[in-house]
Amino acid sequence: NSAMIITGALVGSSGAILSYIMCKAMNRSFISVILGGFGTDAGASSSDAAKVDRPWKRGSAEDAAYMMQQAESVIIVPGYGMAVAQAQHALREMADLLKKEGVSVKYAIHPVAGRMPGHMNVLLAEANVPYDEVFELEDINSEFAQTDVAFIIGANDVVNPAAKTDKGSPIYGMPVFDVDKAKTVFFIKRSMGGVGYAGVDNDVFYMDQTMMLLADAKKMVDDIVKALQH
Ligand code: NDP
Repeated sequence: NSAMIITGALVGSSGAILSYIMCKAMNRSFISVILGGFGTDAGASSSDAAKVDRPWKRGSAEDAAYMMQQAESVIIVPGYGMAVAQAQHALREMADLLKKEGVSVKYAIHPVAGRMPGHMNVLLAEANVPYDEVFELEDINSEFAQTDVAFIIGANDVVNPAAKTDKGSPIYGMPVFDVDKAKTVFFIKRSMGGVGYAGVDNDVFYMDQTMMLLADAKKMVDDIVKALQH
C-alpha cells in the first residue's frame, strides 16, 4: 500500500530529523545518545557526594516578588518541571504584573528543555506568551551577565554549569544557560533531593546569589502573583 509506505517514510524521517536536532543541542553523537547512560544512574556518581551538607538558601514567594519588582531585567528559564506543574499560565500572569511595573521580562528556551523538542515553546504559546519575549539559547545566553534575576522554573540540566566544567559529568559538553552569571537566581523545584533527567547535582543551588524556592512550580508562581498584587 503506497499510502502506508509514504506515511511510514515521513514518520521515520521526521524522527530522524528530531533526533539530529536533539543530538546537536546536547552536543552528543547519535550513537552515544542511543547507547549511553545519560538519564540513568550511570551518570550520577560525580554529584552524589556533593549533595550532602552543602549550604544553600531558601527563599519565599514574597522574597521573589520583592526582588523581581525591584529588578530592571528578569530572564525566565522554564524546564520539564514547569510542564509537569502546568505553570505556564500563572507564569505569564506573573510576567504581565512585572512588565506593568516596568521590568523587562524575557524567556530563555533551551532546545532540549522539557521532554520533547519544542516542548517549552508549545506551552508558552498555549499561555499566550508573546513570541518576541521568547529567545533561543544562542540569542540570549550572553545577556545573563547583565541580568538582575534569572528565574529558573522546573529546569535543571539545561542550567547546570557542570556541563561546562566537569569532564566526568554525563552532561559535559552540552551547551547550557549561563544563569550563574546573573546577579540573583531564583530556582524553583520541589525538593533539594530531586535531580534532573541526567541525575546530577547542580552547583547553582549552592551559589551565594541563589535562593531556592522549594514547592510545586504552579503553587509557587501563584503565590508570587499574589505577593505582586499586594
Ligand atoms: P530536568 O529534567 O533537568 O529537571 C527537571 C526539574 O524539574 C528538576 O529539578 C525537578 O526537581 C523539577 N520538577 C519536577 N516536577 C516539578 C514540579 N511539579 N514543580 C517544580 N519543579 C519540578 O529538566 P530540563 O528541562 O532542565 O532538562 C531536560 C532534560 O531532559 C535534559 O537533560 C535533556 O537532555 C533531557 N531530554 C530532553 C528531551 C527533549 O526533547 N527536550 C528528550 C529526552 C530527554 P524536583 O524533582 O526537586 O522538583
